[in-house]
Amino acid sequence: MTELICIICPRGCHLTVDETNDYAVTGEGCRRGIAYGRAELQNPTRVLTSTVSISGAMYRRCPVKTSAPVPKALVFEVMKEIGKITLKSPVSRGQVIRKNIRGTGVDLITTRAL
Ligand code: SF4
Repeated sequence: MTELICIICPRGCHLTVDETNDYAVTGEGCRRGIAYGRAELQNPTRVLTSTVSISGAMYRRCPVKTSAPVPKALVFEVMKEIGKITLKSPVSRGQVIRKNIRGTGVDLITTRAL
């Protein structure tokens, strides 16, 4: 049994996941908690948000995020790759700046026009 707090909404339900019973979830306030509890134990993922350097803009850093969740095991690899990126202004909001970052099948996109 593993205990988790659901992070899908602010209610923060205390979930219990039973790995010996097909990842049965209890304590959820809605069905999204069941999906979260199962995924968190079987294949945890996270949407990454960060900033990258940008030249020629009014700010020195541009906010970015992954277009979809990436496997938690690859978070540090993706963050290392993000740390190497320098953009040149102008960029638009939602612009893809790395396709398939670190082979995750997920793109890195800007979240602000600069
Ligand atoms: S189980 Fe449902 S109600 Fe509870 S925190 Fe998760 S999303 Fe919110």
